[in-house]
Amino acid sequence: MFSENNKKSGCIEVVCGSMFSGKTEELIRRLRRAQFANQKIAIFKPKVDTRYSEEEVVSHDFHSITSKPVSDAAEMLSIAEDIQVVGVDEAQFFGANLVDVAQTLANRGVRVIIAGLDTDFLGKPFGPMPALMAVAEDVQKVHAICVKCGNLANHSHRLSKSEDLVVLGEKDIYEPLCRECYNAAMAEEKK
Ligand code: ZN
Repeated sequence: MFSENNKKSGCIEVVCGSMFSGKTEELIRRLRRAQFANQKIAIFKPKVDTRYSEEEVVSHDFHSITSKPVSDAAEMLSIAEDIQVVGVDEAQFFGANLVDVAQTLANRGVRVIIAGLDTDFLGKPFGPMPALMAVAEDVQKVHAICVKCGNLANHSHRLSKSEDLVVLGEKDIYEPLCRECYNAAMAEEKK
């Protein structure tokens, strides 16, 4: 879709969906393809995500790629001059300034690929994701499979009762559900 030659043409791409939808796998696929083309890449994730490794973006099926954990999106602006592609994983946990940071990088000619949850466990737009989707050149929604009925799932249903939004995606805490099964599960919990 986008030119992947070495001519500088900045853009923002967003890959989003529920837990277990393959967002991180898709991010890694795009970054690896850029690496094969000898493009210089940098990968960031929020410091809050320490599930598996401080240094790597790791998907649920353990494909990984080395990343730098940062506590503020603004730290991404200090990347080296020759970086052509910037990947961001778990972008929903960054602050609203990620939008400006992504725009600044894209305006400099960097291809910015952002992966994150589009909605939280209540089904509400998550952090900077809706604004990023608005300004992006390209948005891809990826889907999990509903564990109850097998339809495409776009909800991350929380099985635990924690009120903390920063509970991260483990199989024992979340399950992917379609709209209908999510609504049924939420109605059941309200009883
Ligand atoms: Zn379903």
